[in-house]
Amino acid sequence: MNKIDLHIHTTCSDGSYSPLEIMKKAKAEGIWLISVTDHDTLSGYEECCREARRFEVQYIPGIEMSAQFDPGTLHILGYFVNPGNGELQRKIQEVQQARLDRNPQIIEKLNFHGVEITLKEVQAVAYGSAGGGQEGQQLGRPHFAETLLRKGYVKTYQEAFEKFLAKGKIAYVDKRRLTSEEIIQAIHQAGGVAVVAHPKLMRLGEIALEEALEKMVGEGLDGLEVYSSCHGASDVASYQKLAKRFGLIQTGGSDFHGTKKPNVRLGDIGKGFELQEDIYETLRAKSKM
Ligand code: AMP
Ligand code: FE
Ligand code: FE
Ligand code: ZN
Repeated sequence: MNKIDLHIHTTCSDGSYSPLEIMKKAKAEGIWLISVTDHDTLSGYEECCREARRFEVQYIPGIEMSAQFDPGTLHILGYFVNPGNGELQRKIQEVQQARLDRNPQIIEKLNFHGVEITLKEVQAVAYGSAGGGQEGQQLGRPHFAETLLRKGYVKTYQEAFEKFLAKGKIAYVDKRRLTSEEIIQAIHQAGGVAVVAHPKLMRLGEIALEEALEKMVGEGLDGLEVYSSCHGASDVASYQKLAKRFGLIQTGGSDFHGTKKPNVRLGDIGKGFELQEDIYETLRAKSKM
């Protein structure tokens, strides 16, 4: 039983399975340690705790937050964060407000370009039985894409991004993002451990990644997600080296989103898996839990 997965999304953000379903799946597939890391929310925490106990899966409370990192974004995971922490909750509020401000602007742009769509329809897709989402869940571009698909404006989910929603496309609206320093600080204030997620997805060259990590280590970064479903063997080798050089804890996760990312299976943390057995203790010791 050495299977673990420290990067998982549920219906509390943009995954397709509820915390209960995730715990059930983890148990069925022999994954003994998981962390649920929904985007910008800890709303799944209580259900996760309860269901993890029920299905006897070891669970680490987690979150994934996006930092502005020109020209793109960078994702930072927080492990063992205290969900009641005021500072972290304030940051989450800020990010959620930025979304609330942005969504009507996306609708306006789509309408301007002749696409008939309302915010109510997007909400219905997100929270309706077919969408599988939970009330209070954050609305984001994936829900807009799904709505455009269902209304027949595009033939595939991906096409919705390529035609309308991706950066630079006609219905793209930027939103304010936190800096890596703000995120790392908030995670630390909540007693947690800050880890850079799937460095491969940042699409930085090796040198740029080194510089980015050096900067964030200065900001207090604790770990690097060396193992990921999107990393190949050579990626893993170079991230292992970087983690050692900067003294970062090496973690691993699949970035599972259920049917929203059908190629990624729960527990698939890629090749070259050599994750330390005592990862739970290592993360816990680094946290203030
Ligand atoms: P949001 O946080 O609302 O801006 O939405 C971000 C999410 O949209 C990401 O986590 C992806 O799931 C999805 N996304 C962003 N850009 C693309 C793209 N070019 N193609 C497909 N999905 C995308
Ligand atoms: Fe996501
Ligand atoms: Fe991510
Ligand atoms: Zn993720």
